[in-house]
Amino acid sequence: MKLVKHLANLGYGSRKQVRQMFREGRITNAAGDVLYADDPLVHEDVRVDGAPLDPPPGVLLMLHKPVGYTCSTRDLGPLVHDLLPPRFRLRSPVLSTVGRLDRDTSGLLLLTDDGQLLHRIIAPKSKLPKVYRATLAEDLRGDEAALFASGTLQLHGDSTPLLPAKLEPLGPRLARLTLHEGRYHQVRRMFAAVGNHVLALHREQIGGLTLGDLPQGQWRVLDDADRAQLF
Ligand code: URA
Repeated sequence: MKLVKHLANLGYGSRKQVRQMFREGRITNAAGDVLYADDPLVHEDVRVDGAPLDPPPGVLLMLHKPVGYTCSTRDLGPLVHDLLPPRFRLRSPVLSTVGRLDRDTSGLLLLTDDGQLLHRIIAPKSKLPKVYRATLAEDLRGDEAALFASGTLQLHGDSTPLLPAKLEPLGPRLARLTLHEGRYHQVRRMFAAVGNHVLALHREQIGGLTLGDLPQGQWRVLDDADRAQLF
């Protein structure tokens, strides 16, 4: 692939715009030598205005999603994609969220442009644990952990019961819940099924991956060691 196409695919501009950037001498190698639009692709060595290129296709990102951002690209209002550099929206292949978090849910969200990886993570058979911290409107009754663990709880409108889930009470109105599937509004619906209401929801973990010290609204590229935490 020619460099011009690679940079256009990374969202730096249309091919015409990127060709212009080459003509202006803005694309160089790490040593500062000017590169040309038709040069072959050598991702690691390329600089745009002196800065290394964005990650190549096949990227996996973690985002610390704040409350108030939606995962859909069709909704109006703040989108999780608004938290990434604007050119990321122009990437080809596109970056998609790996599953979704509700607008009112904060925490760990993955994004990737790798369709196979995405399906490996969200496929029901992956049974990847997802850990949530829920702040509740009412005190826990005491029977929720046994019910959620039983594998018999069937939510309204679902045709099959939920997989067993682990509930750890952290306080009278605070609980950690580990799920091995991802149904629509699952955590909120589970607590509604036991007469409670989720006031705040935060995803702490997917597989062995946690946010660490990543601040809210920030993102980072996951490396091989991070990816190994998923499978
Ligand atoms: N369960 C929910 O109810 N909402 C989320 O955002 C994630 C899991």
